[in-house]
Amino acid sequence: MKLIYEGKAKKIYDFEPGLVVMEFKDSLTAFNAQKKGSFQGKGALNLKFSNQIFSLLSQKNIPHHFVRSLNESQIVVKKLKMLPVEVVVRNFVAGSLAARLGIPEGQKVKNPIVEFYLKNDALSDPLLTENQILALDILSLEQLNKCTEMALKINQVLVSYFLSLGVKLIDFKVELGMDESGQYYLADEISPDSCRLWDQTTHAKLDKDVFRRDLGSVEQAYLEIAKRMGL
Ligand code: ADP
Ligand code: UDP
Repeated sequence: MKLIYEGKAKKIYDFEPGLVVMEFKDSLTAFNAQKKGSFQGKGALNLKFSNQIFSLLSQKNIPHHFVRSLNESQIVVKKLKMLPVEVVVRNFVAGSLAARLGIPEGQKVKNPIVEFYLKNDALSDPLLTENQILALDILSLEQLNKCTEMALKINQVLVSYFLSLGVKLIDFKVELGMDESGQYYLADEISPDSCRLWDQTTHAKLDKDVFRRDLGSVEQAYLEIAKRMGL
């Protein structure tokens, strides 16, 4: 298969018409790849998380790009035209929001917050206002509304799923893309790389923050989530 893109955590290969293969790497990066790590089996673990979540979203009629698994580190997905933004949903204050506004991490927000970041590594994915998105034609109004609507639907499903596992979904990032007929799909991955997951009672972090902040074994944190998800 011809490699068409290599990113920080995944590789994309050309496949059959309308399809690409997405390969999950064992690497782990933070702070726009200034910090690098890895553990064996991390890619396979993220693929399993992501597949389980896509299957949950299928049951709720949320369209996503997953087509089928090829092996333990590669899946076949619909080839999409990706929207140039990362969409973040927050149920509790954490990370960049806590830092920017000086609010302690863990504070519940009244309603889920939806934020947009420009996908641009050279600029470290800057935060965008909705006004900027429309005035600069980064997304159309329809795309902006679709992203918000899908991100909030996904949030509803994931919040209750993780609560059933004794886990608070603090925040997460999604990416969306469009196929040739203009249909929108959830793309990329949903895994502890892209979500903040805290144990409901101890507030132990079970996500990439363990790696970002040197809080112990990131592998153990991912394995704990995998165990709770029955993977
Ligand atoms: P990054 O590009 O930020 O380093 P990754 O290593 O995760 O991130 O690379 C995966 C890339 O594949 C991302 O740029 C993502 O937007 C893109 N992508 C995800 N799903 C699809 C899809 N269905 N079709 C085409 N590109 C996709
Ligand atoms: N996130 C992500 N990729 C990014 C930036 C953020 O998956 O490039 C996720 C992150 O894991 C968290 C949420 O989006 O679950 C919100 O991240 P935040 O804005 O707080 O950024 P951080 O300071 O963690 O990079």
